[in-house]
Amino acid sequence: MEKRFVYADNAATTRVSDEVVAAMLPYFTENYGNPSAVYGFAGKAKEAIEKARGQVAAALNAEPSEIFFLSCGTEADNWALKGAAALKKDKGRHIISTPFEHHAILHSLDTLKKEGFEVTFLPVYDNGRVKVEDLKAAIREDTILVSIMFANNEIGSVQPIAEIGAVCREKGILFHTDAVQAIGHVPVDVKAMNIDMLSLSGHKFHAPKGIGAMYLRKGISIPNFMDGGGQEKRRRAGTESVPFIVGLGTAIEIATNKLPEESKRVAALRDKLIDGILERIPDVKVNGDRVHRLPGNVNVSIKFVEGESLLMMLDANGICAASGSACTSGSLDPSHVLMAIGLDHATAHGSLRFSFADYSTEEDVDYILEKLPPIVERLRAMSPLGRE
Ligand SMILES: *Cc1c(COP(=O)(O)O)cnc(C)c1O
Repeated sequence: MEKRFVYADNAATTRVSDEVVAAMLPYFTENYGNPSAVYGFAGKAKEAIEKARGQVAAALNAEPSEIFFLSCGTEADNWALKGAAALKKDKGRHIISTPFEHHAILHSLDTLKKEGFEVTFLPVYDNGRVKVEDLKAAIREDTILVSIMFANNEIGSVQPIAEIGAVCREKGILFHTDAVQAIGHVPVDVKAMNIDMLSLSGHKFHAPKGIGAMYLRKGISIPNFMDGGGQEKRRRAGTESVPFIVGLGTAIEIATNKLPEESKRVAALRDKLIDGILERIPDVKVNGDRVHRLPGNVNVSIKFVEGESLLMMLDANGICAASGSACTSGSLDPSHVLMAIGLDHATAHGSLRFSFADYSTEEDVDYILEKLPPIVERLRAMSPLGRE
């Protein structure tokens, strides 16, 4: 097979789709009015924002008034956690989360700990899923917030969100979920799942980087995130990024409409790659649950090799992938996600993530399956990593 370019890092970010770009363009050069202005010209921008709000709400089964546009998923995570803590601090200071959340959650929790909040991290076991019994056992009189990610960005495991939501609602505890990896890829229903707050980010489902949203259930009056003008009902001041909001709304509507077929198509690519790797390469471990798994996520540990070296050789062959190896993240310790599911350092260092989305094809998978085994063989032949 001749050299190809294969983008298999859609969990890091996705290509903006042509439809989304086309929907956004008029809001740069034609309908560029400030939505807060009173003249008719600005009305088009205002209408576009409200249309997008409706599109996001419909995708989540929420009300448009419960959707707030923000700059990114990280901002939504910060607002949800710090806002919920400020709202409920007189009732209690105990928060429940997991050790393998995104750093936007973990570092927000660090900040809250410095302010006197206490955090219980539920075990996530070797399949990367929390158990509802553990949640029930961890809940205390002073528990005010549960934040558990919908799906993990590294190993793709999808959490029992509806069960968690039911427990929290019954106990009167706020439930936030970081659904950045889930939206557009698996069905999400904030009402059926009893979700109080949800974070999402456009660039994980073919909208641009730099636009996100939070679902905040009606009646939950967490403090404003940004003080200033009257935008977003004063909750998040700052002139709206109209083109990006339009892009987000368009992308979420497209993703939701094609989710039933597209998630099956992408899951078939995922399974073909996982099974193909297991067939062709000895000493491989699949990380994360094989059933409760994002359709686009492949994460394997290839023993006796370094993820970093694998990435460089894949890159030389035109393949973009990711690793939970230490060097990749620029720190000494391997990924906190792989540590949380109990991998030893050596196994974590040999981890490789491929993630697929709308533009991924079967040819991409075939190409990876052709290139990866000889790369592993070469690296193992020169490996100092102690294979007998
Ligand atoms: C990408 C990601 C984020 C951060 O979103 P940004 O829009 O990049 O700030 C948060 N949580 C998860 C699970 C993610 O995958």
